[in-house]
Amino acid sequence: MASGCEFQFMEYVAEQSIDPNLVCSICHKAFNDPVCTPCDHTFGRACITHWLDVSANHSCPVCVESPLTVDKLTVASRLLRNMLDPLRVTCTLCGQTDLQRGNFEHHLNKVCSKMVIECIASDIKCPWQGIRDELQDHVRTCVFELLRPVLSSIIAENRKLNDQVRQHEDEINKLKQALNPLQIAPRSEYGDDSDDTSSIASEISTTDNGVKEEDTIYIRNLPATVKFNDLFDLFSKFGRIKFNPNNKKTDIFILKNKQKKDGPCGAKVAFVDKESADAAVLAYNGKHIQQWNTRIQVNISYRKRKNPAYFSGAHFQDNAHASQEAKPTADHEKFSRQAPNVATTVNPPTSQPEKTQRTKKNK
Ligand SMILES: [Zn+2]
Ligand SMILES: [Zn+2]
Ligand SMILES: [Zn+2]
Ligand SMILES: [Zn+2]
Repeated sequence: MASGCEFQFMEYVAEQSIDPNLVCSICHKAFNDPVCTPCDHTFGRACITHWLDVSANHSCPVCVESPLTVDKLTVASRLLRNMLDPLRVTCTLCGQTDLQRGNFEHHLNKVCSKMVIECIASDIKCPWQGIRDELQDHVRTCVFELLRPVLSSIIAENRKLNDQVRQHEDEINKLKQALNPLQIAPRSEYGDDSDDTSSIASEISTTDNGVKEEDTIYIRNLPATVKFNDLFDLFSKFGRIKFNPNNKKTDIFILKNKQKKDGPCGAKVAFVDKESADAAVLAYNGKHIQQWNTRIQVNISYRKRKNPAYFSGAHFQDNAHASQEAKPTADHEKFSRQAPNVATTVNPPTSQPEKTQRTKKNK
């Protein structure tokens, strides 16, 4: 019980016979809860607190000159309290009179039949409060106590889960920090901008001021032989992958390694919502994939900050967002005109497996 408040239910018996040194000079009664001022005067806590509340000049009632505030008050000496403890007191709640001040706290907390207490099932959230006398009656019908085995196991389980959530959040934050530098795809890995496959790669930001594509994941360290269907099987379980009704293409792009033909390659998968993308990152980032015998990196995709000149000729934006954009056809035509030209002059047809796979898939 908080210091002091138990004494509000306590009254001294035969107060007139009490040693005058144990009497408060404000209320002229024996001290209930004596406190000391810095000027070495002693008062009942309730009396001096009230005095400082209402008096205009905040000072000790005895030596008026000394400034005084409540936070300067200290509990009176043990000697004084030891002198008070044997005094006989009455409990104003239950009327019991054969008590000593020193035992009064115990009386209130363990014995007093009229003290307001909580249910014995308050630890499992029973909201009941009442006098100690009524506790037995309450407990007989307390549904919380009745369900104690169930509730306490649920509460324990809940506490365990909360701890786990906190732990996982910590781990996720640590991983996020560790992954930040990895989210930046080194441009050189996917070659130059000479054909449409690598032009997608070049859209992936190489700096962290890129535009986050929240619904799209970027997968790295895939084997050169990775197939559209493999990616579709692996990632479609996290949610619906975007589908462009205009060109009938599913939004999965494989980004071939331009420098080393059989070197690791990348891929982008665009979901219809960011939750699916987050789930895919959570499930597969840093995970070893048996069928490919490689550890893949999966992150939310970053696209280079908008460059109008670049985007007028780029098709990735079209494929991913054509359904939402005003003039997809015009952009797409533009790209179609450019693509064969670029592809035939710079790359042999075999370096277009991404296109081939798309065609296969959509046949
Ligand atoms: Zn007093
Ligand atoms: Zn004083
Ligand atoms: Zn009592
Ligand atoms: Zn209860």
